[in-house]
Amino acid sequence: MLLVLKFGGTSVGTAQRIKDLVKLTVNATPKIVVLSAMSGTTNALVEISSALYAKDVVKAKTLIGALKEKYVKEINELYSKAESLEKAKQLIDNHFSYLNAFTMDMFTANEEKAVLAQGELLSTAMFHYYLEEIGVESVLLPALNFMRIEANDEPDMTYIEKNCLAELKKYPGQILFITQGYICRNAFGEIDNLKRGGSDYTASLIGAAIRSPEVQIWTDIDGMHNNDPRIVTKTHPIHQLSFDEAAELAYFGAKILHPTCILPAQKRNVPVRLKNTLQPEAEGTIIANLNTKEGIKAVAAKDGITALNIKSERMLLAHGFLRAVFEVFERHKTSIDMITTSEVAISLTIDNSSHLADIIKELKEIAVVEVEENQTIICIVGQLPKNKAGYGYQVLAALKDIPLRMVSYGGSSNNISVLVNSNLKKEALMALNKGLFNYN
Ligand code: ADP
Ligand code: ASP
Ligand code: MG
Repeated sequence: MLLVLKFGGTSVGTAQRIKDLVKLTVNATPKIVVLSAMSGTTNALVEISSALYAKDVVKAKTLIGALKEKYVKEINELYSKAESLEKAKQLIDNHFSYLNAFTMDMFTANEEKAVLAQGELLSTAMFHYYLEEIGVESVLLPALNFMRIEANDEPDMTYIEKNCLAELKKYPGQILFITQGYICRNAFGEIDNLKRGGSDYTASLIGAAIRSPEVQIWTDIDGMHNNDPRIVTKTHPIHQLSFDEAAELAYFGAKILHPTCILPAQKRNVPVRLKNTLQPEAEGTIIANLNTKEGIKAVAAKDGITALNIKSERMLLAHGFLRAVFEVFERHKTSIDMITTSEVAISLTIDNSSHLADIIKELKEIAVVEVEENQTIICIVGQLPKNKAGYGYQVLAALKDIPLRMVSYGGSSNNISVLVNSNLKKEALMALNKGLFNYN
């Protein structure tokens, strides 16, 4: 039985942090360690890709050179034996020559995915070499051999399960495996990824595939907090969350978890524990199939939302209007997050506006459409039984001074959502911190 431990960017962010991982990973418990890229690396690779797209060779080379310099510095601090340092130098030369080659070649979306994959390939090899240097045996499992998404970008669970187990089977008796988060292959076998922050998703997909007793997400904070600590000053960790509560928080913006990473674990009933690398003794958060306490537990906010108001001139008692509207979104593979309706109109939100122009064009054939961009969904999460009075009131009372564009209540007993203009997000989160959690 292997545990899955995922360490995020800050947990592998410097040579010292990589050394510190030994305390948390080298012991008698069999495990798979999933690593992100060192913090800042994926952002740097995104910038390099933009320069390559723009055919700005000078800029791309400068950025690649600066990133390489950082890695050279880190490996000089990480390894003390000449032999391991030599091996790491070779590793870095290989990866950076690969990046540099793109400055002389065509650059397309496929190449970009390959560029973005370099961070996780580097961090995992560096940790593997470090363990080798200190005499700890480990196996580097290539995620590209088993992590795969289908044509619709969803993980191919059957393939992942079969191939992950097959990889592990090659190493009987081994108890420490290391693999890359985030990266995968797509339906065409090309290098792809699970979207930004996707290493959490890798960990839960592996946890589900191997039916792990627990997936641990190690990061730079002591668990899921009641509010976004980047925005409000006073927050506290929540020690227990049900899968449903955690999934809502992750989907609606709590950055500590990738939006869809709870689902695979929930399907196989694998508990997910959030822990702090900088403070390993802190309790953190356990996410499991739990009957957690009744009440409001946390709030999260998701930016980049577009609201559409769709008004039928002939809606009164018109059958089929909702279907016609939803079909437009389905045709454009665009999922809807919030919906409210009145007798004559529907308001709904989407977060993927890449097909917005086509969607509006088609909707205009059946309705009058108004669009508002730069909206934020604020999601209030907990156990909120529908037969209990007061939760809706508490939320609306806390937000009494903030204009609410939409309110959604009753879809699930875990969530009340409101939509506000993004420039009111901070104010809304602060008002909720005061009204719901008594923080000033
Ligand atoms: P990693 O690089 O380890 O994946 P992330 O930066 O993706 O780490 O996630 C951890 C960060 O998530 C924290 O530093 C914190 O600022 C942010 N965060 C946002 N909302 C929350 C929340 N509700 N609880 C805890 N952390 C949160
Ligand atoms: N390195 C990737 C990113 O920065 C994946 C991850 O860290 O989860 O998005
Ligand atoms: Mg993350």
